[in-house]
Amino acid sequence: MASLPPAIRNPEVKYTQIFINNEYVNSVSGKTFETINPTNKQKIIDIQEGDKADIDNAVKAAQEAFKLGSPWRTMDASKRGRLLYKLADLIERDLAILGSLETIDNGKPYKNACGDVLFAIDVIRYYAGWADKICGKTIPINGDFFCYTRHEPVGVCGQIIPWNYPFNMFILKIAPALSAGCVCVVKPAEQTPLTALYAGSLIKEAGFPPGVVNIVPGYGPTAGAALTHHLGVNKIAFTGSTEIGQIIMQASGVSNLKRTTLELGGKSPNIILSDVHLDSAVFWAHAACMENMGQCCVAGTRTFVHESIYDEFVKKSVQLANSRVVGDPFDEKTQNGPQIDAEQYNKIMELIESGKKQGAKLECGGQIHGDKGYYIQPTVFSNVSDDMRIAKEEIFGPVQQIFKFKDIDEVIKRANDTHYGLGAAVFTKDINKALTIANSIQAGTVWINCYLAVTAQAPFGGYKMSGIGREFGEYGLSQYQEVKNVVVKLDQKNS
Ligand code: NAD
Repeated sequence: MASLPPAIRNPEVKYTQIFINNEYVNSVSGKTFETINPTNKQKIIDIQEGDKADIDNAVKAAQEAFKLGSPWRTMDASKRGRLLYKLADLIERDLAILGSLETIDNGKPYKNACGDVLFAIDVIRYYAGWADKICGKTIPINGDFFCYTRHEPVGVCGQIIPWNYPFNMFILKIAPALSAGCVCVVKPAEQTPLTALYAGSLIKEAGFPPGVVNIVPGYGPTAGAALTHHLGVNKIAFTGSTEIGQIIMQASGVSNLKRTTLELGGKSPNIILSDVHLDSAVFWAHAACMENMGQCCVAGTRTFVHESIYDEFVKKSVQLANSRVVGDPFDEKTQNGPQIDAEQYNKIMELIESGKKQGAKLECGGQIHGDKGYYIQPTVFSNVSDDMRIAKEEIFGPVQQIFKFKDIDEVIKRANDTHYGLGAAVFTKDINKALTIANSIQAGTVWINCYLAVTAQAPFGGYKMSGIGREFGEYGLSQYQEVKNVVVKLDQKNS
C-alpha cells in the first residue's frame, strides 16, 4: 500500500444530521442516538435518528430528483461519470479524515480503514467509467418491426448497509446505482454512521443534484423497515445478516415487489491439500479468519486441512494467532482492534464457550483482551467436528476452526454441507485438483491459493442463503437497470 497520510486521533465530527436534498437536517421526531467508540465504550457524539417520517422525506426528495426532465434525468451519461470521478478525487483528498472517522466509529486499525477508503475509490472510478457505456441492443425480431432495448435506471434505490465496512459499503452501494442513473436513499448501520454522513458533504461538493443521494441514519426496525416497505422505492440493496435479509425479502414482497439484492452471511470453507507451501497456506488461512477482527461476511471460518499436515498446520496457525498484535487501532503495529459492540462481543464469547463445551480443543485465545473496549484475543480451535455450533454458525469474530479431512470427495461434501455459499478457497499446487474443487463448491467466489481477493471488476455474491444477486463488475451494475424492449412497426423491413 502507498504511504498513508498521518491519522487524526481526535477527528472533528462535523456531520451528525440526516442528509436530504444536499442539506443536513434534524430528524422530524427530534430524536438522537449515540454512536460509540468500541475501543473504550465511550460516546463519540449524538446522531440525528431518522425513522419513518424522515425516510418519507428522503424518498420524496429522491423521487423529485428522478422525475422526467429533472437535471439528473437529462444529464449526459458521461457527465454522471465525471461527477463520480470528482467524488473519487474528493474522497482521496479527505483520506485521513475518512480513515480516522472510520477508526473511531468502527475500531478497525487506521491503516485498514484507509485501505477500505482506497478500495472504495477504486470502486467509484470503475463505475464512473461505465456510465456512458451502458447500452441496449437492436434485435432482429420476426416480422416487419424494428426492435431495440434500453437499459434504464431502476429508479429510487433503498440501500441498507452494515457496520463491518461502513464507508466501503456506502460507496459500493451508491457507485453502481449512480453510474446507472438511479437515485439513492441510504440507511447506514446505527453503530457506524460517521463516514457515510461525511460523504454527504462530498456528494454535494462534487456537484450531484439535490435528492440524488440521501442518507438517513437510524435503526433497522424503524428507518430500515420504513425503507423496505415504502411504495415509492423501486429497489432494495441490503448487506447484513441472513436473518434480516429474510425479513427484507418479505417486506419487498408484501409492499410493491421491489427488486431486491441481498449480500448476507457465510461460513466459508478453506480447503488445504497436502502438497501446499505450508507457511503460505497457514498465513492465508489465518488472514481469512482474522482480518477485520473476523467481522467479514466471507471470512474463511471453516479451515479444512489434510490429515497428513494437520498437526503442523495447527501448530503454525497457533503461532501466528499468538503473534497477532491486538490493541490501539491508531498504532501502526496493530492488526486487530475491538469488535464492534457489546452484542457482537457477547455473541462471540458465547460461541467460544460452546466450542469448548462441545469438545473442540481451544489451542489459543478464547479470552477477552485488555480491560476496556470490546477486544477479544485471536482464537484457534482444533479438533472441530461438523456438528458443533462453531462449525455451523457465523461467529463474526477472530476465531479460526480447523477441521481434519482425508480425501477430496469427502471434503467437497463437507464443505457444501451448509446453507451458506458466499466464499471458498482451495490451496494446492495441483491445478487439476484445484479446479475440481473450485467447480464443485457451491459458492459465489472460489479463491485458489489466495483469499479475500475482492476487486471492483469481478462479481461478488452468494449462493444459497448467502444472498441474491451480485455486486461489483458489470454484473453488479446490471442489478440497477431495468431492460425495456421497444418495438416499432415498419412498412417493410430489410436485412
Ligand atoms: P443486521 O443484519 O441486523 O444489520 C444490518 C443492517 O440492517 C443495519 O443497517 C440494520 O440497521 C439494518 N436492519 C436491521 N433490522 C432491519 C429491519 N427489520 N429492516 C430493515 N433493516 C434492518 O446485522 P447486525 O445485527 O449488525 O449483525 C448481526 C450479524 O449479521 C453478525 O453477527 C453477522 O453474522 C451478520 N453480518 C453480516 C454482514 C455481512 O457483511 N454480510 C455484515 C454485518 C453483520
